Amino acid sequence: MPLERHADLRQQSEWLNAQLASDDALVVVIWSQMNLVRLTSGIPEPVYLRISDAALILGNATEVIYLGHDGQAPVFAADLAQLPERRVLKILGHAAPECEMVNLRRIGTLLEPGQASILALARAMAYWHQNHKFCSQCGRKTHSKRGGHMRFCEACSSEIFPRIDPAVIMLVEQNNPIDGIPRCLLGRHDKLPKRMYSTLAGFVDPVENLEQAVIREVYEEAGLRVINPTYVASQPWPFPASMMFGFRASTDDREIVIDNNELEHAAWFSADEMRSFGEFDGPNTEIALPPKDSIARGLIDTWLAENA
Ligand SMILES: [Zn+2]
Repeated sequence: MPLERHADLRQQSEWLNAQLASDDALVVVIWSQMNLVRLTSGIPEPVYLRISDAALILGNATEVIYLGHDGQAPVFAADLAQLPERRVLKILGHAAPECEMVNLRRIGTLLEPGQASILALARAMAYWHQNHKFCSQCGRKTHSKRGGHMRFCEACSSEIFPRIDPAVIMLVEQNNPIDGIPRCLLGRHDKLPKRMYSTLAGFVDPVENLEQAVIREVYEEAGLRVINPTYVASQPWPFPASMMFGFRASTDDREIVIDNNELEHAAWFSADEMRSFGEFDGPNTEIALPPKDSIARGLIDTWLAENA
């Protein structure tokens, strides 16, 4: 994340107004959870509108969120959520010709990681605002404060902050395979794109630690009792509001018993088998691996490198 967030300064409305009035201010546009990008060369580039070109956009925005400073430039996200698509395209046709609204999930791998982070933050914050327009305590309308990093209910003084949903994602390895060839578990979820096999994953339950979530999810989805869940890395996953905690674990069990409500199929795969799988967005192969920007793929690629 290249932006300096200024978490203290953004609580002051005078400071925020000064940033929004600055000639250096830049605006990224969100609509319907999509981001504005330029695709002239076929490779997407984020579009930062100068504040002087963004008056109509800011005037029509449901939310204007301060994302942070990129050097001297304050960067804001403007969400055009309330407008119909036709109107959005008309406004953008003037402000940002040759640009279009795209799903970040589709183009994430093509962006420079820092730029992808900024667009993801804009999308995640816009999603949070859209889904917290009313107070969960008293049902009245809430409004944005602190540059869009808090919502507040005047009626009952509730303060509402952005929330993320923790989820675990785990690569499960077979202990002591009969033929000596290491294998790991991949499954096909009916919500995944066709052909794609991935590591198992699931949301963390209340009053459960991450390790317990790994053990429970693998048992629920594949009937395997894993041991030694070990944390590897995490990845924000703003589609729409998750944090993925990546783990490795292993099991003495061999027989997979899938939960058909969760998985269509799951199997043990060797490294050689997995190397024959295609890319999720590449030529048609029988089985494809998850996208390269996913932590699932990171877990798989690390395991493949260890089993070269
Ligand atoms: Zn309230």
